[in-house]
Amino acid sequence: MSRRVPRADPYEVFALPLQDRWLVFAPGTWSAALMNHSALGALAECLEPDHRAPSLEALELFQALTIAAPDARHARADASPKLVIMPTRACNIACVHCDFGAADAPLTVLDPRVAYPLIDRVAASLGRARGGDRTLRVHFFGGEPVVALRSLKAIVAHARAAARRHGVRARFELTTNGVCGEAARRFLGEEIDTVVVSLDGDEATHDAMRPRRDGRGTFAEVAETIRVLRRYPIELCLRTCVTDRSVEAMPMLAERFSAEFSPDAIAFEPLAETDGARAAGLHAPDPYAFARGFMAAEAIAAEHEVRVVSGPAELVGPRATSCPLGTGSLMLWPDGAITACYLDPGRWRSRGLELSLGRVDASGAVRVNSERLARIASSLADTPRCARCFCRYTCAGGCHVEQTPPGCAPEYDDRCVATRLITACRLMVTIGVGSEAADMLFSASAAEALALHADDRLRSWAKVL
Ligand code: SF4
Ligand code: SF4
Repeated sequence: MSRRVPRADPYEVFALPLQDRWLVFAPGTWSAALMNHSALGALAECLEPDHRAPSLEALELFQALTIAAPDARHARADASPKLVIMPTRACNIACVHCDFGAADAPLTVLDPRVAYPLIDRVAASLGRARGGDRTLRVHFFGGEPVVALRSLKAIVAHARAAARRHGVRARFELTTNGVCGEAARRFLGEEIDTVVVSLDGDEATHDAMRPRRDGRGTFAEVAETIRVLRRYPIELCLRTCVTDRSVEAMPMLAERFSAEFSPDAIAFEPLAETDGARAAGLHAPDPYAFARGFMAAEAIAAEHEVRVVSGPAELVGPRATSCPLGTGSLMLWPDGAITACYLDPGRWRSRGLELSLGRVDASGAVRVNSERLARIASSLADTPRCARCFCRYTCAGGCHVEQTPPGCAPEYDDRCVATRLITACRLMVTIGVGSEAADMLFSASAAEALALHADDRLRSWAKVL
């Protein structure tokens, strides 16, 4: 006799091999469990109730994992759209691993009057919205945005006024290299809600990666910026680019940065190799070492109440994307162009993507191709690489230009390996089996079995259980 298995859940259930056990993850109910082989076999039978007869216990467990009352369903965690403003693409230092060619970019500064109509349009539309998050979110990015301090100040003042006029909140974020003088530090502390400062390691590492144009290091000045900013009641995040040389130092950096700077968060990111980075002898870290370093760093930082962040491996979700692309975010360039991604257009066009959305023209008219914006968001779900990955509702494709562009290989790349390992370990920590996560990470065969498995869907295992 077959039992009826109601399926109200649009999400997959995933099962990951974990030495002699299995980690089961159900994104729809946001639940995870560790189980043995026979329990997983019983669970898999629930997928084919017409052919097999699942036990009542298995059925109950399956339903608990997959069916939540609508009001108990885990909320989707899709990020709110942002207005990303690049006041300049130029930079005041010469990082060897820069991804944007900022050191050579001309010092073109955004005329703030170009930003105003776009800000007004976004604030007005938020003001008309019924419910939802009615916050005008502005993120300043570069180049180095602080190089264009006058433009920045004018834009922030205008955005505050526009938000007031339309009855919405305004929130500002800014990513900086931290090489800035007193006036800029004061402005950041007083006006910006979240400041992200790049700090790539100890003095020697940071100075080698982020020198001034004359070759002198920048660590001392960046550290002073961080100390000054910490005196303000802002959210302060450090962003650390990890290379093959610094990967083993991640736990030490978590301890030092937490103790010395008391940031709210430290975001560790593996180096994206550029020609400049390779010329400087820097390479992406081994993804297994990165995952081990990350989990160790997270445990150390937690003792200081500091969050450790990995964008694609955050346990928030389900979500359709972990990057700004696909959230409806608009990115304004110094020349008035509006795009969906902050990378140079040549980069996305070479991957077969068209991410330009419009512009603010000389008369101040704002043109945004809303159809293309919607098309970009809906196209992100079609990534063959991610279709069978248990991170498809958390990482959800990582960087859609560099990692999962159209036609990308179905095999996981190194970033996938790190994301999969960190996500699995974090799930294990949340269900109280963190020591099993550490065992898995330190066993090369166990880590590879989990990281490289091509199809995590429970239904794919049903055939072999
Ligand atoms: S396959 Fe890679 S990019 Fe896609 S969801 Fe998994 S980890 Fe992310
Ligand atoms: S596609 Fe990649 S570079 Fe573009 S916004 Fe997303 S993460 Fe950033």
